Amino acid sequence: MGDLLQGKRGLVMGVANDHSIAWGIAKAVAGQGAELAFSFQGEAFGKRVQPLAAQVGSDFLLDVDVTDDASLDAAFAAITDRWGKLDFVIHAIAFSSKNELTGRFVNTSRANFKHSLEISCYSLIEVARRAHPLMTDGGSLITLTYGGSNRVTPFYNVMGVAKAALESAVRYLANDLGPDRIRVNAISPGPMKTLAGAAIGGARKTFRHTEANAPLRANATLEAIGGTAVWLLSDWGACTTGEIVLVDGGYHVLGMPQSENL
Ligand code: NAD
Repeated sequence: MGDLLQGKRGLVMGVANDHSIAWGIAKAVAGQGAELAFSFQGEAFGKRVQPLAAQVGSDFLLDVDVTDDASLDAAFAAITDRWGKLDFVIHAIAFSSKNELTGRFVNTSRANFKHSLEISCYSLIEVARRAHPLMTDGGSLITLTYGGSNRVTPFYNVMGVAKAALESAVRYLANDLGPDRIRVNAISPGPMKTLAGAAIGGARKTFRHTEANAPLRANATLEAIGGTAVWLLSDWGACTTGEIVLVDGGYHVLGMPQSENL
């Protein structure tokens, strides 16, 4: 526990259960004094999120499907009514059809390409535009990405393209919102055992591969990702924006896998 985020209020989007990266971040930032609202996608997720939110002292729950403008408008209207301002948003949202997170990228369908990019990238822009006027004392937005954005990872396919677009959107948003002291960054963890992570073909193999090969010989933890978010949201992160912060045990520095035979 600490007070690095005392007095700050933030919206956490993307908690599905207690394995979610958004939940790891929520616990860490609440532990530093932040007051939280949670958005969830539909009633079934709402039932799971409600007790988690209660664990960190929040009863502020908002049903948001990021493909539905009306639900986004309603959520930000509720934040305006209750808080009048906002200090940060955690955007931990992505989706692609499981059928296309296996097999060959060349078979990506137009429909799933559009849907994946809309949910996994465009939604950050929709959220940033609505959060901006509420961030009257400056603010901070964090999204979540993955190294499959710029290096081919088996079966990540269209999500790699969506994450590349998302990372570019982070830089453009950082430049647009920077004059109002709003920072926009992405955290890029290695593979994590979550609902979304499990949808990717060969997820367990990827998890074991990075654990065996990363310089730290370990995958990221929810605690380490949460700690990185605390830094980025706090005054200690005041000069960092437009950045993709890797929290992957150092995996991205490798040129080739570890080998005992060399
Ligand atoms: P998760 O399944 O716990 O969270 C994904 C969330 O996206 C869910 O809460 C889901 O409800 C939400 N979502 C999907 N479509 C939505 C929509 N239309 N409207 C509103 N919400 C919607 O999985 P996670 O791994 O915690 O994913 C969070 C973020 O972290 C994602 O952006 C993901 O790509 C990223 N990430 C995950 C990994 C990993 O290996 N799991 C690694 C790096 C980055």
